[in-house]
Amino acid sequence: MRKNIVAGNWKMNKNLKEAKELVKGIRKGLKNNNFENKRVIVAPSFINLNSTVKRTKKSNIEVAAQNMHEAKSGAYTGEVAADMLTDVGVNVVILGHSERRMYFNETNELLAKKVNTALANNLEVIFCFGELLEDRKTEKHFEVVENQLSEGLFHLLKEDFSKVILAYEPVWAIGTGETASPEQAQEMHAFIREVLAKKYDEKTANSISILYGGSVKPANAKEIFSKEDVDGGLIGGASLKSEDFLAIIEAI
Ligand code: PEP
Repeated sequence: MRKNIVAGNWKMNKNLKEAKELVKGIRKGLKNNNFENKRVIVAPSFINLNSTVKRTKKSNIEVAAQNMHEAKSGAYTGEVAADMLTDVGVNVVILGHSERRMYFNETNELLAKKVNTALANNLEVIFCFGELLEDRKTEKHFEVVENQLSEGLFHLLKEDFSKVILAYEPVWAIGTGETASPEQAQEMHAFIREVLAKKYDEKTANSISILYGGSVKPANAKEIFSKEDVDGGLIGGASLKSEDFLAIIEAI
């Protein structure tokens, strides 16, 4: 059975002290939580990964990186390699976030390389993708999403593909306060599962967690998560306050 996942992407927010406070609040709120079919992941900035891993020890909170370089090592000033992440106890990496695609020119081709490097280093991947507003307005959203999956991930063999978590994030809903309706999310997630069944098989399609991301907050989380093919969320803004993040986890 696929797992429900709530992942908080802190982006370029929280200094060391603030990150510590946030983890403390989340840990406290999750003390008596049942994690049987649920995963909670937080993704601090690189500089706070090490300390966050230490502070989440003996809890069920997992720690993800927000990005990673595709090369093993080398002269790439300012970049971080996969084994530097695993070395400090990180086991998940977010790849393909729309902000990386938009501001850092990350293409599907580059992302395919990053995915390979991550999996080769035993990092689980949260792979983000989603259409622009213009794509939706021109009814190209299904085509765009299928293309992102195909170019970024479909070179993977079935066994490797099962180590990927998908995060459908319509770009027009990220950080804008505008959310896809639960019906729009369900429609796309069901389409994604169809595409996966066609590429791999039904069993694989049904075993992959597909998260929704885009202005999820305590007020709308329950309705979105109630949809059959929505297996949780990738949360930006609302993951920065422990009360909001906990309320979203509660909604799953
Ligand atoms: C995100 O950045 O992945 C995201 C979904 O952000 P927000 O929740 O703030 O829209």
